[in-house]
Amino acid sequence: MAQLTLEKVRKAYGDAVVIPEIDLDIRSGEFVCLVGPSGSGKSTLLRMIAGLEGITRGTVRVDGEDMTDVDPSDRDMGMVFQSYALYPHMTVRDNMSFALRMRKEDPKLIEERVAEAVEMLDLKGLEDRKPAALSGGQRQRVAMGRCIVRKPKLFLFDEPLSNLDAKLRTATRHQIRHLHDRLGATSIFVTHDQVEAMTMADRIALLNFGEIMQIGTPQELYLQPQNRFTAGFLGSPE
Ligand code: ADP
Ligand code: MG
Repeated sequence: MAQLTLEKVRKAYGDAVVIPEIDLDIRSGEFVCLVGPSGSGKSTLLRMIAGLEGITRGTVRVDGEDMTDVDPSDRDMGMVFQSYALYPHMTVRDNMSFALRMRKEDPKLIEERVAEAVEMLDLKGLEDRKPAALSGGQRQRVAMGRCIVRKPKLFLFDEPLSNLDAKLRTATRHQIRHLHDRLGATSIFVTHDQVEAMTMADRIALLNFGEIMQIGTPQELYLQPQNRFTAGFLGSPE
């Protein structure tokens, strides 16, 4: 579990300011959905937290520790993308264990971690398959497995369900939320789907043009929208 704090985080590409200044506090164990229209800066924010994108100004802290200049591989965060980005030539087992093998972890530990993830993600019997022989939902779960085996402090999801069909998306939503609870993880889940956010989140942060318009529980946002944007986005009465 980890507590994440963003202090006055800014992102600009040259003259283009994508995120003017964001302050954000995410509590240990929270599941926060980051919602907003396309181009509002959701992915940029997530990538800055993960260290995949430099920040123009400000500080990213995990459990109080300044992570701003820490290498992505040393940040102890697991990121799941929309495109599962699995290695096509590797089996499920090898995809899942890749990061641990790169870190030269003990083979016994690797085996245990993979077995644990396979069990949690309901992938038993598929360990020797390659991604091409899996369904979309199964691939998505393997991508989750690649994160879980590292036991990261923080999970970062960037629209991981948007390539799945509607029925599978609903099922996977519940699976991810259940997994978060079971692992006692802290998660940020980016989506542009308000229903997804309303059903999954402890709190929702609503982003527009790189600014947090409102952050609160689904009920708070729905019943007490503080501005037209929030009201409009969640479809609640003004
Ligand atoms: P979202 O994930 O909410 O759809 P993004 O974080 O991908 O939004 O993008 C936010 C804004 O930043 C967009 O206007 C996008 O064009 C811009 N942007 C993203 N990456 C770059 C880049 N490498 N150079 C310039 N502008 C970028
Ligand atoms: Mg995005």
